[in-house]
Amino acid sequence: MRIFTSLLKNINSKVEHYSRFSPSPLSIKQFLDFGRDNACEKTSFVFLRKELPVRLANAMKEITLLPEGLLTRPSVVLVHKWYTQSFADLLEYEKRKPEDAATLNDFLESLIEIRNRHNEVVPTMAQGFIEHKEKFGVEPFISTGIQYFLDRFYTNRISFRMLINQHTLLFGNEIHLTPPKHIGSIDPNCNVADVVRDAYATAKMLCERHYMAAPELQVVELNMKEPKNPIQVVYVPSHLFHMLFELFKNSMRATVELHENSDAGLPPIKAKVTLGKEDLSVKISDRGGGVPLRKIERLFKYMYSTAPRPSLKPGTVPLAGFGYGLPISRLYARYFQGDLKLYSMEGVGTDAIIYLKALSSESFERLPVFNKSALRHYKSSPEADDWSNPSKEPRDASKSIYKPR
Ligand code: ADP
Ligand code: MG
Repeated sequence: MRIFTSLLKNINSKVEHYSRFSPSPLSIKQFLDFGRDNACEKTSFVFLRKELPVRLANAMKEITLLPEGLLTRPSVVLVHKWYTQSFADLLEYEKRKPEDAATLNDFLESLIEIRNRHNEVVPTMAQGFIEHKEKFGVEPFISTGIQYFLDRFYTNRISFRMLINQHTLLFGNEIHLTPPKHIGSIDPNCNVADVVRDAYATAKMLCERHYMAAPELQVVELNMKEPKNPIQVVYVPSHLFHMLFELFKNSMRATVELHENSDAGLPPIKAKVTLGKEDLSVKISDRGGGVPLRKIERLFKYMYSTAPRPSLKPGTVPLAGFGYGLPISRLYARYFQGDLKLYSMEGVGTDAIIYLKALSSESFERLPVFNKSALRHYKSSPEADDWSNPSKEPRDASKSIYKPR
């Protein structure tokens, strides 16, 4: 027990130490250049043995800022434990020599173990919120601080998985998992319309399983740079797939729910892929009835869903219901300096646009940094409403110039 306590003390002081460094964001171009030119495993090792603990420590410091009631839920405790364990695993390499083949091998195995340990972070965190609601009867989401935390926490997770994947795909035995021209998880010639069609096909299968029908897809490409060529980008296709898959599932659900019984059939979903000098944009348009403007912001809240909560039975893949589709997709888009926006016309339909940087030299990782200004977000109380609110009575009716008669 005493050994354990002193170990934990040591780890905590290391977390302090590493959390004082800011993470070093890399651009897709840098990931690519490093992976292309006879990537050096030792260099990668030396970089990661510092950078991964830095990113983990930054996240761990923020976990501890969560409200007590949430921090003590069993699922949140479990997630925190995974982070501590992974952080401790990485500390093992602080003093080991990169010249040793055994070091590099052990490191590779540790990375795979860490990645697997963190596979279930998102649903486990979600479980923590459910536990909070069961215990205290209120959703912990009232505070915008939680939304702020999760955006940063999940971005951090996306980023350290990106780093781990690049290393294990370049230097491990997982080479058979990547298509030959890929550099780790990056496709230097990612054909965007192809990913659109892939994501559509996968969502269509799910949709047909749920509703016995699915809308058709129409794809248009507008390449303003090289009008005759298909639009390509240097990007992580799995990230793009993730975002598109979520958008298609949403559009399909809205479309089928609205038009299921209409004689005219299901209106198609339209995808438009465009390339300008700076932006590569993908618009997914549906005629699923849209969402009123008042509610748009809410759709990006974690766990906000209008679908029934799906069961967690193994083997079942739900079409909707966790309410994580939009917020997480937006994080993927923002991670490399893009964005994801929804424009809806209520009664008719929704356009969702994914914006990506056209140039890989501009797509730098956008990473949360644990510092004073981050701290402020956790300390401040919910902002007082400093805009008029139509549902409220004037504060003091007698002083109002419009005196009640
Ligand atoms: P989920 O799909 O699990 O509900 P999402 O984050 O993907 O979670 O979406 C949240 C909610 O936003 C959906 O439940 C739905 O009410 C609404 N929504 C998202 N996309 C559309 C769309 N294209 N048309 C209408 N409503 C949408
Ligand atoms: Mg969804």
